[in-house]
Parts: sequence; structure tokens; C-alpha cells
Amino acid sequence: MHEFPSYDYKRIPLYKDVTPEQWGDWHWQMKNDIKDVATLEKVLPLTEKDKVDITEVLKRFRMAITPYYASLIDPANPGCPVRLQAVPRLPEAHDDDCDWDDPLHEDVDSPVPGLTHRYPDRVLLLVTHICSMNCRHCTRRRLVGEDDITMNEENIERAIEYIRRTPIIRDVIISGGDPLVLSDAKLETIIARIRAIPHIEIIRIGTRTPVVMPMRITDGLVAMLRKYQPLYVNTHFNHPKEITAEAREACRKLADSGILIGNQSVLLRDVNDCPVLMKKLLQKLLTIRVRPYYIYQCDLSKGISHFRTSVSKGIEIMENLRGHTSGLAIPTFVIDAPGGGGKTPAMPNYIITSNEKRVVLRNYEGVITTYDEPSSYVEDCGKCRICYDEPQLNATCGVARLLSGEEKTIEPEGLVRGARLVASEDKVFRPKGLVRGARMKNSDHH
Ligand code: SF4
Repeated sequence: MHEFPSYDYKRIPLYKDVTPEQWGDWHWQMKNDIKDVATLEKVLPLTEKDKVDITEVLKRFRMAITPYYASLIDPANPGCPVRLQAVPRLPEAHDDDCDWDDPLHEDVDSPVPGLTHRYPDRVLLLVTHICSMNCRHCTRRRLVGEDDITMNEENIERAIEYIRRTPIIRDVIISGGDPLVLSDAKLETIIARIRAIPHIEIIRIGTRTPVVMPMRITDGLVAMLRKYQPLYVNTHFNHPKEITAEAREACRKLADSGILIGNQSVLLRDVNDCPVLMKKLLQKLLTIRVRPYYIYQCDLSKGISHFRTSVSKGIEIMENLRGHTSGLAIPTFVIDAPGGGGKTPAMPNYIITSNEKRVVLRNYEGVITTYDEPSSYVEDCGKCRICYDEPQLNATCGVARLLSGEEKTIEPEGLVRGARLVASEDKVFRPKGLVRGARMKNSDHH
């Protein structure tokens, strides 16, 4: 296995008197977040232009960089991929016409404040707007870059009550901001109440702390989390440089506690928009027991358009993964469709054509071959008890209804035959009878 890069924070004059105990204390890291230009220039060489640009961006978005993550920046390289994710650049001050405050409609698909219920069986619970670091490419900067708000007890209880009275929900994703900026005790009060709901099977925590503040993964935290299995942690490594000895140790603690760790990278221009680099990242993640889960196309959030790549870059990366490395290392490349359309997979085409008898496939080498369909396959579903005993498992919405025959067509709302489609006010067409649309109408939030 590769040895991981180490670094010496004491090479940075500002930190030369910091003890290893202080450095390894996540409270110290958060207290010493770098939030202004004066502190940043004690850590990194900045040009006059850098300082002017950062000052301009800070009028709009905040900066917070943990000393740990700052210590990973190569001071000699203005294009260091760690730096690009941490230090503001002038393009953040400008929006593209297609940028949105909330491109994923997380606030719209929200039956109670702080809770997004988009997909049928799972919800996203945003427990805080605070992060240990403000990533420059953050899609939730409408929340994270604003006030330091932790959801109050009343709203948390309303969200949990919604989950309690909605039995179709079986999976709760606790996110933010970063939920691991909360104390173990506060976090446990939330997790314990969710775990006590009988229909909740899975709890997931979305956190970037293994990457930007790995000392947060303490023995006490993992001892608390392991009581609430099955519990998954999804984190957010974007570049092999982020896989340090400290990050590996954080992931080891989680994995040794039986917690499965997934990774959600964002495809970022000049950071990881390279098939070779991405393959290296994904392979290295497996060596620290982190399973690559998603690569996201960069969202259309305000102030991050300079990070966007073409979608075809993501497809090229996927072409360079499948077959070229273990399937275990291969995540799903998704575009989180603007307007709340949700995660939409994008990948190279592997099926060239098909008829009733066979499917023509191509593999990663360009070999074209056929798969013969079974000559006597007749669907004989509906004999077992599962559909009757657990009707919630039966597809009740979306394109799956076309396959089941429950619907013949799905049409956008406002479709006018013979005329051009007229864009609706919120720029998206909603299929008739959208289940989450009904949820929103019934909610007490909108
Ligand atoms: S940790 Fe996540 S939520 Fe927080 S700033 Fe970074 S990307 Fe945004």
C-alpha cells in the first residue's frame, strides 16, 4: 500500500508554537479557523491581487479554513488543488445567468423547515448551517456561507415528528452544514430519536470532517455512533492529496467501529477534472476503506460557475474507469438535476442496439459482442407475499409506472398540444401527479 503524504504544520510560522495536543483537538481547529486575509497571509504567500480579490469575495461569501486543511496547501503553487477548494478567487463574485440560489430545490421540497423530502423513502435533515470549513465550491452556500445557525430544538422536533408520522421513510440523511461540528451529546440526542422510530432502517451522516478536520473523528464520537447501527458516513474527498495519514486514521476509526464510509466527490475544474487523477483518488480511497459512491457534476449554485466542467468530461472519466480498474472503485457519475429533479446518472453507452433475441454490447476495449436473450422468459411476478405485505416497496410514481402499465404517458404540466411549451415560472416542468408536489401542497411550510 502507498505511504501517505505527511506534512509538518510547524513549518508555518503562525503554528510553530502550537502543541500536537492543540493541533489534534478539533475544538482548537475550529476556534482557529482562518476567516480573514490578515490571518491567511500568515499561512500562505498572497500577492496584492490575491488580497484584493479575496477581500472582494468576502463581501459576498465567508471564508473559513481549518489550520489542518490550510497546512495541506502547497505554498509554492497558486493552482494547488487544496488551495482552490479553500481560498476564494474573484470569479466567486460573479454569477452566470444560469446560476440559482437553490438549484436543487432543497428548500422547495421541504415539508417542514430543514427537512427535504424529495425521494419516496428517504429524507435529508439539515441540522446546522455551520461547517468547519467553507468549501469554495459548496452547493449549499446560500445557507452555509451565511449565518452560523444550528437548527433549534423546536424545528428538530418538528422534523422528527414528520419522519415519525411518515412511515414510507426508511432512511434519514443527517447533513448540514456539517453535523459533526455539533458536540457528541447534541448529535446523539438527534440520532437517538431517529433510531427510536420503528420504520427507520438506515441513518446516514454527511460530513467533510474526515477530509478537512480529521481530528473530529474521536474515540468518543465513534463509540457513540456505533450504538446506532446500521449507520453510514458519507464524506467528500476530491483529490488524492487530501488522503493524509490523519485522514486515513479518521477513516480507520470509523471503519473499525463497523461504520461503512462512502465518498461523494464533486467534479471540479482544475482540481480533479482528469481521468488519471480521478482514478488515483478512487483507488486510494479504497485503501483507506472508503467506498467511492458518487461523482457529482458541479451544481448551478451562485458563485461556483468557475468550478464547472462540461458533462462530457465526467463521461470521459467514467469511460476511463469501467474495465480499467476494479468495479469497487467506480462510483456513479450523477447530475443533480436543477429544479429538484434529483440525481440523474450519466455514463457512456454500453448497449449498442438490441432486438428480442439479443443485445449488442461493447466493452471498455471496444470489443463488440452479443448477449442472447432467453428464448422462454415470461415474467411471472406477483406470486410471492412481498408486494402484499410491504406495498410501500412497490413503485408508485415516476417512469416505473410506465413499465408497470399503471400509466401510459407522463406529460409536463402546462403542455399545450400544437403550441410551443411555455416555460413555467420556476423554469421546470412538473409531470402530472408528482408525489412530492402533493407533499408540498399539504405541508405546513409553504
Ligand atoms: S463541508 Fe460540505 S456543506 Fe460544508 S462548506 Fe464544504 S461542501 Fe459545503
